[in-house]
Amino acid sequence: MEATLMGSLRDHHRKSELEVALKLNGSIRLKMAQFLQERGFVEIPPVIYSTATDPLNHPVYDPSFDYEGTRYSITKSMIFHKQILVQQFPKIYSFSPNVRLEMPEKAKTGRHLLEFTQLDLEMLDATREDAIRLGEDLFCDVIKHVKEKHSKDLESIERTISVPSKPFRRIKYMDAMKQYGDDFESILSREAKEPFWIIDIPLEAREFYDRESDTEKGILNDMDLIYPEGFCEALSGGEREYKIERILERVRAKNQSPEQFEWFIEEARSGLRLSAGFGIGIERLLRYICGYKRIEDTHPFPKIPGQKSV
Ligand code: AMP
Ligand code: MG
Repeated sequence: MEATLMGSLRDHHRKSELEVALKLNGSIRLKMAQFLQERGFVEIPPVIYSTATDPLNHPVYDPSFDYEGTRYSITKSMIFHKQILVQQFPKIYSFSPNVRLEMPEKAKTGRHLLEFTQLDLEMLDATREDAIRLGEDLFCDVIKHVKEKHSKDLESIERTISVPSKPFRRIKYMDAMKQYGDDFESILSREAKEPFWIIDIPLEAREFYDRESDTEKGILNDMDLIYPEGFCEALSGGEREYKIERILERVRAKNQSPEQFEWFIEEARSGLRLSAGFGIGIERLLRYICGYKRIEDTHPFPKIPGQKSV
């Protein structure tokens, strides 16, 4: 990329790629909101900072600050806000900006930004099965919409995509690992012609809040959606741990402390019901739809791991 934004946009190729991504960004967000509202979901405003945010299961730097004697972190995901609010509003979603100060080597993947947006949603009294079905319907509707309304835009960037057939294939995490080794996600994604699910993710590979199976110890009722053509992870989600004793056990097993999540734990003490949901990264979805090599090609002001940004 050239040093200045104006400089880089004088390159017609870069400008038209970005223009298509921006046009699609607005269009798919509208489509997603319409899809969800027709199914009774209520949009909630994003939370930009909070006393408790997602601990994640991989190392990132933690941007936090003090205000009037209270410590706040910038939102890494709205998981806790979703799980608490859904108890009163049974179907919710947000276009939630997240800041994750990923390690510099993540720039190599072509799918990590330090600042991105996820469509984050949650449903009360719902199971992973419900979340999977909703995810498939949402994904297919968005792709169908893009094909119908944006065929000229896709043509201009020489991209063809197709609406996948439902239900998507499912592969168990441990089976994939046994067959393909640690790099199974990339290998399977490169081989695939249609998106597929990785399900039954082991406890060590995820955060404390995903719910453990009642029948298989150490296995979570959660899932990732993986794009075909080597674009890798699209979304993560699953059922949430909702019994306070289980939540506390899982927090301790991660060597985290309940104080870190005080606000959430206090709410959870008053009794939660089961919920399920997922978060799908908007820039990654745009990258897949456009077929771009790098996620930063979808954004005018991309924040790339390890690099200085404006
Ligand atoms: P997670 O629950 O951590 O898997 O995050 C939910 C979704 O957000 C992922 O499946 C991705 O689509 C997206 N996402 C997560 N981290 C990043 C990142 N650093 N840059 C862009 N998108 C991301
Ligand atoms: Mg994930």
